[in-house]
Amino acid sequence: MKVHNVEMIMSAVRPEQYPTEGFPEFALAGRSNVGKSSFINKMIGRKSLARTSSKPGKTQTLNFYKIEEQLFFVDVPGYGYAKVSKSARETWGPMIEQYFITSEKLRAVIQIVDLRHAPSVDDCAMYDFLNHYNIPAIVVATKADKIPKGKWDKHKKIVREKLQMRKEDPLLIFSAEKGMGMDEAWAEIESRM
Ligand code: GDP
Repeated sequence: MKVHNVEMIMSAVRPEQYPTEGFPEFALAGRSNVGKSSFINKMIGRKSLARTSSKPGKTQTLNFYKIEEQLFFVDVPGYGYAKVSKSARETWGPMIEQYFITSEKLRAVIQIVDLRHAPSVDDCAMYDFLNHYNIPAIVVATKADKIPKGKWDKHKKIVREKLQMRKEDPLLIFSAEKGMGMDEAWAEIESRM
């Protein structure tokens, strides 16, 4: 998809604040600092609409990006950042869970992981959660530019095995740095709209 038009709708915390247009929704999940904002920005062709911040764990609301009047990207707070206060952490989990469980328009969760490293305990917990609620996952392994191409398959295998990925869930390679993997990611998204 060639993106020309993106509108940042709102920051929602409660279900009554979710948009009501009825477009398919794709949520973005990932550990803080994994490259989630960079993924979103690359996919929508913006330099910094989704804030890439050096302060992990900053986004504390659900941010809806309306794309081409056709779909929403729903950016959820990054997880696994220890320095976030306990009270903030306690409100996150339920907010994300409530959205994942109640949104009728959620087609898939795009879970961003780092191709360089084996998925963390938090990555596995997030994937298990999606599995438990039968939510399809598109796993995107980003920062591929940091690994020689010849090693991608080995790292992909580690990601698949560690997350214990369902066969039907795709694992895509991505690099925001090189702008690589965008067509494949858009094809996965569009096939589920
Ligand atoms: P977020 O906290 O998950 O939203 O992460 P960001 O998008 O802010 O990225 C965290 C850091 O990783 C930043 O310094 C980015 O420049 C860097 N980064 C993100 N994606 C890539 C990538 O594909 N390749 C490389 N080399 N660096 C990346």
